[in-house]
Amino acid sequence: MAVPVCLVEHPLVQDTLLVLRHRDTGAELFRRMATRISVLLAAEALRDLPTVPATVPTPMGEAPGLRLAADVVVVPVLRAGLGMLDAVLELLPTARVGHIGLQRDEFTAVASQYYSKLPKDLERSHVLMIDPMLATGGSAVAGLQLLRRAGARDIRILCIVAAPEGIALVEREHPDVRIYTPVIDRGLNDRKFIVPGLGDFGDRLYGTL
Ligand code: URA
Repeated sequence: MAVPVCLVEHPLVQDTLLVLRHRDTGAELFRRMATRISVLLAAEALRDLPTVPATVPTPMGEAPGLRLAADVVVVPVLRAGLGMLDAVLELLPTARVGHIGLQRDEFTAVASQYYSKLPKDLERSHVLMIDPMLATGGSAVAGLQLLRRAGARDIRILCIVAAPEGIALVEREHPDVRIYTPVIDRGLNDRKFIVPGLGDFGDRLYGTL
């Protein structure tokens, strides 16, 4: 049975999403909002990371606490996923980073791989694949296949807008992968864009409209 999708309903996430969606939001604000929402989503997606007990000296004495004890690998799907990377690295500066380059054919929306560079030993890592628009699910499934072949076991997907079609495909092909998203939109149009969505994420991020 498929792992349920995790809908991130935090008001800060939802408010930021609205700014991202607005057609008048320019590239500079879009980038800042993409970073903000990604920090919040990543915090939610990494809520169950393992920790070990630790103590630190405060100016007043010893304080017990918890130290993160996890190897995290972040994998942006190029190019739009790069818009979420700095946010995740802000939370996890020592995370290793892999890259997957997938290009969506403008007419058929079929994803083809043009680049892949992944860190070693993914078996023991918590892998966070970041791809803001889960549309047909074609890129996500192609990315997940690469990660699986490289040995990844614990994989989570972080996206900013998801379509039911993309979720269904990921659930069918990789039922153990948890998807973190603030929203599931209505569906796809005939060009395989998410409706109402927010348009082309990469173009809006990089001003290449
Ligand atoms: N990629 C985007 O950037 N936007 C969509 O709506 C679908 C895929």
